[in-house]
Amino acid sequence: MKIICIGRNYADHAKEMKAALPTEPLYFLKPDTALLREGDFYYPAFTKDLHFECELVVRIEKVGKHIAPEFAHKYYTHFTLGIDFTARDLQQQCKENGLPWEKAKGFDHSAPLSNTWIEKSEVKLDEAEFKLFQNGELRQIGHPKDFIFSIDTVISYVSQFITLKTGDLIFTGTPAGVGPVHIGDSLRAVLNGQTLLELNIK
Ligand code: MG
Repeated sequence: MKIICIGRNYADHAKEMKAALPTEPLYFLKPDTALLREGDFYYPAFTKDLHFECELVVRIEKVGKHIAPEFAHKYYTHFTLGIDFTARDLQQQCKENGLPWEKAKGFDHSAPLSNTWIEKSEVKLDEAEFKLFQNGELRQIGHPKDFIFSIDTVISYVSQFITLKTGDLIFTGTPAGVGPVHIGDSLRAVLNGQTLLELNIK
């Protein structure tokens, strides 16, 4: 199982990161050890600036390579929410030195994921809204209709390079409002009013 993460897929987040809008999907991978399905998150010692990035997540349901955009919708059936934890200080160092981001993005438990999956038919992407609350305060609001690259486009694009397998996850990018977490915080991710993920930072 692999975790494929899309970067800069919302214009408002690219702007807050002072990053250019991508002209083709930008993706990176997290290893399977990044997944956190239950329990608390423990703030890692190697960063002093850990950021939350709440994202809509899809799960790949069958093997595919060179998937045409018009068939991409057949490769996923459910949505959920996850957090793409990012050690922003390490990521900034990597960027400044032209180095890969894995250290800042792919560490253990950097991808907490809800265990509740919502059927695709129950989520209209052009109306869907997800939110991230930190200690009860609203930090992020995401509307998948604002994706720069649609899920189908992303699946088609990535499958040119990597065979997608059953169980692979795609984190589809984060909207604006990312920010630091601290020990003692609680995070709550909500899709269309339904709480899907609650996480305590220890
Ligand atoms: Mg992200």
